[in-house]
Parts: sequence; structure tokens; C-alpha cells
Amino acid sequence: MIRHLAAVLCLFIFSLVTLFFHYNGLYSTDLSTLYTVLFFFWAGIFVFTIMLRSGFNKRFADPSLTIPQMLWGTLFLLIIAYLLNDWRGLMLMSYFAMLSFGFFKLRLREFLTVGLFAILGYILIILYIFVFEPERINIKLELIQILVFSGTVFIMLYTGSSINRLRERSKQQYAELQAALEVNKRLATTDELTGLYNRRYFMEKLAQQKALSERNKSDFVIFYCDLDHFKHINDTFGHHTGDIVLQKFSEILKSSIREIDYAARFGGEEFVGLLVDTDLENAKKVTERIRHSLESFNFNDIAPSLQSTVSIGIANFKEFNTIQETLMSADNRMYHAKHTGRN
Ligand code: GH3
Ligand code: MG
Ligand code: MG
Repeated sequence: MIRHLAAVLCLFIFSLVTLFFHYNGLYSTDLSTLYTVLFFFWAGIFVFTIMLRSGFNKRFADPSLTIPQMLWGTLFLLIIAYLLNDWRGLMLMSYFAMLSFGFFKLRLREFLTVGLFAILGYILIILYIFVFEPERINIKLELIQILVFSGTVFIMLYTGSSINRLRERSKQQYAELQAALEVNKRLATTDELTGLYNRRYFMEKLAQQKALSERNKSDFVIFYCDLDHFKHINDTFGHHTGDIVLQKFSEILKSSIREIDYAARFGGEEFVGLLVDTDLENAKKVTERIRHSLESFNFNDIAPSLQSTVSIGIANFKEFNTIQETLMSADNRMYHAKHTGRN
């Protein structure tokens, strides 16, 4: 739309210029013919405006309608060139301004269409004048003019399409970069095997939660999980089965906590969780649910005799007031569970 408005502004300036030509006696025609031509082309531009505003342009392969608009503008310039007498070449200069609109959009082949339309159109006009109104033309001068015009147009087509190619390439590179960034972000925050958050991200979240809790005087709980006799599971059923157990446990974790809580794989078969706005009493209910879910989980379709349990320690922030000590305490309590029979 902005580019279209720029084109409208250009046409407005060209319209003034064509009237200026008239008042300087450069035409072989009268003012009413000129008004008819201007009216006709402005009507066309108005149609483009309506198409762009109404969304009708989206039905075309190129919704910017760059080529049709450029062809329309070219036709306007050609007609003005026809109406001019000795100063026909002036209109050719304006054509370069119009071609520059294609820099944003056109490939070489599309540029060629637009360029050839202008060159052939101009040649036709010269031929017509030469045959039917020979007193209005100096054919030698015109031929030289066409030669210079065509040469310059072709150079512009080449540079213009190169600019467009660069634009497209940088657009594509930008998209690739965005995709790579997306992957990077995921890798930086999540654990590949389980899809849970990783240690780094979890520690970040803990720091944020600490700041938040100190401000609104809320409490939160950290829980620390370590799967029981996991080495034994690996040794008996294989490392791959061990991985599946880790994934299943992660699913249990995720489905046992709320949207606002966080669970992460801390490393190996150790997991941690952050329960926001929660006291020990409620945290105990959540972690008991997690413990029970794993204990009663049916691994039959993976290995019939496979069973897994987890030991969990919990600690609330208010009791210790630092992340490090809360985490350590949860870890110690988890070990206490290990020493008093696991699960
Ligand atoms: P405990 O009840 O005392 O925790 O016994 P444990 O066997 O779980 O003890 P430990 O923490 O020493 O063993 C953890 C094992 O977890 C050792 C390692 O081979 C295994 N492990 C660590 N990371 C992975 C993993 O990504 N996949 C699998 N399959 N096993 C892992
Ligand atoms: Mg361990
Ligand atoms: Mg273990």
C-alpha cells in the first residue's frame, strides 16, 4: 500500500509535468485530449487502489500488483511520448524513475517484461509517427535516442534484479537464522531425552522465584527426586529401557504439577521440581502422588517384570532463605529417604 501511494505521488508529479509541457507548447494536441488521457490513467490508478484496499489483490500471485502497475504507468508515459513533438525523449527519462519501483519486487524475467514493453512500445510509437505523421519526427535522432534508452534500460534491469536477488537472499537467510535461533533456544533450556527443563534453566527460574517470593512474602517448595536402584534397572533391562523409564517418569512429573510449577532433569536419574506458592503440607501431597504414580506404573509393554520407584526430598524456601540451602536440604532429605528404605 505504501509503495502504491508512492507510485500515485509519482503519477501526480508526472501529471503536473505533462500539463507543464502543454503550457510550454510541446504537444501537437489540445488540452482536452490531454485531460482525457489524464482522466483515463487516473481512473486506472484508482482501480488499483480499490483492489489493494479491498483485498482483491490477494487473489493474484503477486499481491503487490507491481507488474500491472508498472505496465499501466509505462503506457501512460508512452502516450505522453506520442503526444510530444521534439521533446519525446523527456518522457523516456521519467521511465527510469518508474523502473526503480521494480527494484523492490521483480526478478530479471519480470523486469525484462516491463522493460521490453516500454522499448517495443516506444519503437511502435516512433514507427507510427514516422509513417503517418512524418513531419513530427527526426528519425535519425529518434533512433539514436532509442538505442541509448534501450541500453540504459537493460543496465537498470540487471542492477535492479541484482538488488532484488540480494533482498530475497537476505530474507531467506533471516528465516534460516530465526529457525536456528529457535532450535538453540530449545536446546539451551530443555533436556533432550525427557523434554523437561535442564539444570541451567531451572536454576534461572529458582532465582526469579526467590526474588518474587521475597517481594510478595510467598513461600515455595523445591523437591528433589532420585530414582531407586536405577543402576540395577540399566543392568537388568539395558540402557535403552532405562531411558524409557526416565521418559515415563518425566511424564508423571509433568502431569503431577501445575502449569505455573517447574520440573527439570538435574542430571542422570535425578530430577527436581519447583512448586510455586506452596507450603510443605501441600508439597507433600504432590510428591506423594508422584511417588505413588511411579510405584504403580505399569511397565508391562516395555518389560514385564520391570518396576521402578523414586525417593523424594522436599524443602521450603521460607525455612532456609537461600536457594542453595533449600536445594541442599531437599537433597539431604531425599538421601534420608534412601537410608530409610527408599520409595
Ligand atoms: P540409588 O537407589 O541409591 O539411587 O541407586 P542407583 O542405582 O540409582 O544409584 P546411582 O545414582 O549411583 O546410579 C544412577 C545410575 O543412573 C547410574 C547411571 O548408569 C544411570 N544413568 C545416568 N544417566 C542415565 C541416562 O541418561 N540413561 C540411563 N539409561 N541411565 C542413566
Ligand atoms: Mg543418583
Ligand atoms: Mg538413583
